[in-house]
Amino acid sequence: MIVTVDEIGDVLEKSETIGKDTLEHWLQDAGVTDWRADGGGTFSARFTRAGKNVVLTANATIPLSTCCSRCLKDIRRELNLDFTTIFTVAPARELPAQQEGSKKMQDESGTGASFDLDSADEEAFDGRTIETDGVLAEQLLLELPMSALCGEDCRGLCSVCGKNLNEGDCGCERKPMDPRWAALKSIKITPGK
Ligand SMILES: [Zn+2]
Ligand SMILES: [Zn+2]
Repeated sequence: MIVTVDEIGDVLEKSETIGKDTLEHWLQDAGVTDWRADGGGTFSARFTRAGKNVVLTANATIPLSTCCSRCLKDIRRELNLDFTTIFTVAPARELPAQQEGSKKMQDESGTGASFDLDSADEEAFDGRTIETDGVLAEQLLLELPMSALCGEDCRGLCSVCGKNLNEGDCGCERKPMDPRWAALKSIKITPGK
């Protein structure tokens, strides 16, 4: 989403859908290989002017899918992101306004795609145009589930026959026998007379 400060006025509320391709693109750019977009997402933004700065209060829902890292079953999760970002006017040194016609310098200051976690809640902008994709992608990556399990108690697959043990036991002997017990097993107990 791109909005201009003029468009915002005092307060502006705006919603849009985020295409599945865009979500996939963000995940791939960040090197995420397990989670995939499971369709498009939604993004609702409320921009509030605070002097020269703009406060963004946002909510986004992002459907994700992956497969369980233990049993490989498909998992679907819908991420619900709530966040606030303050867009602050970039310091003057980054905006060489006096150098007229210096297109190169403008381009350098205009690329604000950063994944620096320390600045997640504050984002520099040029005082005119706000672009929300960067902060939204950042939030998505922050909230990405660390583990991909269908459930905390997932029993995984049998290492012998590959059966999904959540659906029942297969009867395979999976644990290697402790050698001390193996020794006991070899002792023949002869019934006493
Ligand atoms: Zn599982
Ligand atoms: Zn088995």
